Amino acid sequence: MALIVQKYGGTSVANPERIGNVARRVARHKALGQQVVVVVSAMSGETNRLIGLAKEVMPNPSPRELDVLVSTGEQVTIALLAMALQELGVKAKSYTGSQVRILTDNAHTKARILKIDEERMRADLDQGYVVVVAGFQGVDEAGNITTLGRGGSDTTGVALAAALKADECQIYTDVDGVYTTDPRVVPEARRLKSVTFEEMLEMASLGSKVLQIRSVEFAGKYKVKLRVLSSFEEEGEGTLITFEDDKQMEQPIISGIAFNRDEAKITVLGVPDRPGIAYQILGPVADANIDVDIIIQNVGADGTTDFTFTVHKNDLSRALDILRDKVQGHIGAREIIGDDKTAKVSVVGVGMRSHVGIASQMFRTLVEEGINIQMISTSEIKISVVIDEKYMELAVRVLHKAFGLEEV
Ligand code: ADP
Ligand code: ASP
Ligand code: MG
Repeated sequence: MALIVQKYGGTSVANPERIGNVARRVARHKALGQQVVVVVSAMSGETNRLIGLAKEVMPNPSPRELDVLVSTGEQVTIALLAMALQELGVKAKSYTGSQVRILTDNAHTKARILKIDEERMRADLDQGYVVVVAGFQGVDEAGNITTLGRGGSDTTGVALAAALKADECQIYTDVDGVYTTDPRVVPEARRLKSVTFEEMLEMASLGSKVLQIRSVEFAGKYKVKLRVLSSFEEEGEGTLITFEDDKQMEQPIISGIAFNRDEAKITVLGVPDRPGIAYQILGPVADANIDVDIIIQNVGADGTTDFTFTVHKNDLSRALDILRDKVQGHIGAREIIGDDKTAKVSVVGVGMRSHVGIASQMFRTLVEEGINIQMISTSEIKISVVIDEKYMELAVRVLHKAFGLEEV
């Protein structure tokens, strides 16, 4: 008997009527003879509402209590969905993350899944139940409630599919698949029938929030068959994440464009050009658990150099404080500047491996619109640029057109 895991995001369970629609879809799959495990997010807006409440009480909420609070969002929807299924005459049981026992590490608000006990779910499935599991949450060794980071229900879905060796993991959301770019920014964006795992990994890590990056990593590690679909339409084929390049088909050079408004730029000016400087600048930043993304160091003619890197906007002021207090005097840098009006735009495609000239086409397209490139970073299958935030949407639109992504 086929076993599928379906995950429904916040907009798909935003109110009782939509929860009823989800229940009807699940019931249809059950009626086809499939065993179904369903993962749900909190109702849309609920996680933000809860975080807002926490901040009213404590501006910098303690991570352990924040996890206790935000995990309640998903506890509401699992119970409501189980009831909606029962109302249709379908046997269903709901479980929180700790009841399943989705064991995680203790990194509150960004915990990683270590192990999933699947026996209990398996027993329920064998007795004909639909099993409904709360997304986004787990429990650590000591019994504390943890959460998996924003968008983490995707990861719960894929991790359960891996643990149960499901035939497919279906991510139901408010768009009918993975598009060449966010269709809310470029209406001409086109749905991809399939996308390679590597490309999806890049797109997720470069800001396409349609799948949380960790869910894609999980799918890759355990070879989970993963599909993105719309919960608002009758059954379509959505987008399949594939593990092998289809050798029969000519690969498009560029598959998609991702963007991210969350990065800020820090420049350390007038640094003496001598060994150990990068470590002296970035060591204290790393010690404070601040992730650094793109890094650039210029060669200075006069014995000094400028050092530029990006961090998440939420970490900008903390990073600047560290650099000004602990680093600037120590290394003798002239000035340290922070800029949070930046955005990163990236073109992604496995076809880049065998084609040259993609970077120059990208840069030409941007200069034709008068968009200045502040930083560049490349890998085998992506090119990213950091630009002024106010040009981000324009950049995405013109690049989408320049690379012919709206054509079939
Ligand atoms: P859910 O609540 O179901 O998890 P999300 O809001 O997290 O949904 O993710 C779906 C959204 O991702 C879409 O509404 C769309 O705006 C956005 N998105 C960004 N990039 C893409 C892309 N390349 N393809 C499809 N959707 C994208
Ligand atoms: N409810 C959580 C969030 O809003 C998890 C999820 O929706 O995937 O981030
Ligand atoms: Mg999501």
